[in-house]
Amino acid sequence: MASLDRAWSGTDDSGVSLGDHPTLRLRGNERRIADALRRLGPATRAEVGAVTRLSRATVSAGLSALLEAGLVVETGAAVPVGPAGGRPPGLVRLTPVAGLAVGVDVGRTHLRVAVADLGHQVLGESSIRLEYGCPAGQALDTAADLVHTALSAAGAGLPDVVGVGLGLPAPLDQRSGTISWSSILPEWAGLAAGDELAARLGRPVVVDNDANLGALAEALWGAGRGVDTLAYLKVATGIGAGLVLDGRLFRGVSGQAGEIGHFTLDEHGDVCRCGNRGCLELVAGGAALVAALRRTHGELESVEDVVALAAKGDAAARRMIADAGAHLGVAAGGLVNLVNPGLLIVGGELGRAGDLLLDPLRLALRRSAVRPAADAVEVVGSELDDRSEVLGAVAVVLRELDRARPAPAVAR
Ligand SMILES: [Zn+2]
Repeated sequence: MASLDRAWSGTDDSGVSLGDHPTLRLRGNERRIADALRRLGPATRAEVGAVTRLSRATVSAGLSALLEAGLVVETGAAVPVGPAGGRPPGLVRLTPVAGLAVGVDVGRTHLRVAVADLGHQVLGESSIRLEYGCPAGQALDTAADLVHTALSAAGAGLPDVVGVGLGLPAPLDQRSGTISWSSILPEWAGLAAGDELAARLGRPVVVDNDANLGALAEALWGAGRGVDTLAYLKVATGIGAGLVLDGRLFRGVSGQAGEIGHFTLDEHGDVCRCGNRGCLELVAGGAALVAALRRTHGELESVEDVVALAAKGDAAARRMIADAGAHLGVAAGGLVNLVNPGLLIVGGELGRAGDLLLDPLRLALRRSAVRPAADAVEVVGSELDDRSEVLGAVAVVLRELDRARPAPAVAR
């Protein structure tokens, strides 16, 4: 937790200021309480006590000081008053004065930015189209501009920001912060994108892949609220999974956990971009579906086109999506056997096909997972749709600011 302490003490090892707003100057129990509230969002005093392991009296005294400083506010009730009556427990949350978290989602053809306060309230979102094949440096410059614009719209500026989350549609080596390999985003391979954005903004940056961020966003704000162990399956051009185990994002030793798109379905199948044969992505990924349907539907360009065509009743598109669902279900069955999640959330562009994709997925999952694990998992669509990744980029700052790569001394 050394880097968390550093981020919250206002300076890093080299004396670089990370901002001078009041939250970063907090010490002792007040900082522990503020830190717990950043992770929890709106919470009861009892929940703050449970997380900080501080006594009721200490939590109460700490909260009083934070309320007085305007860093915390009391907001309504956690639960409505039951038939037995009684006073419901009130909630406390951090205010925008306590600082902001920014999320940046980079896709192949889009950039999205969201700004939230540390009390988990989203203050604003904006997005722009990105030219296909845009050089990484140019995309990061544009992202930095969009962050400035979004902050201004929220009546804030970079000094209010405690951290920035950056989501990329590629597997990341979490030890070096670089993109491990990618043919979806070839311009970015080998780039330390988090460090690059930190240099542009002068703020600490947490970087992660889109499926991990989607999982975190669904757990915090979407279909996974209140579920401790869940899997998020992102089915877009490629396929990836994010795992939240016991409330925490699981990345594996080097950040490759959840690479389910390269689960081998057929050892003798076609060669995949990853170098193996018969990967799930080759039969259920959006790129594969687009390529297959182009033979009969020359005008097709994107996964969205495939979903739109199916919605209009096109038999070939519907068959392709249903088959993809069945293949996904086989791989998801393996995942369910390994992890035993309570929820499997399916997002990404192809996820928007709804039950056309999900029904065959559920059926194949039931056939390929062991009965008790299959019985325990519910398969649902994403609640956040195309906002999953950008909100996940905000969520990773709220939950895991300790992973941030620090900003260098002078912003470019
Ligand atoms: Zn592969």
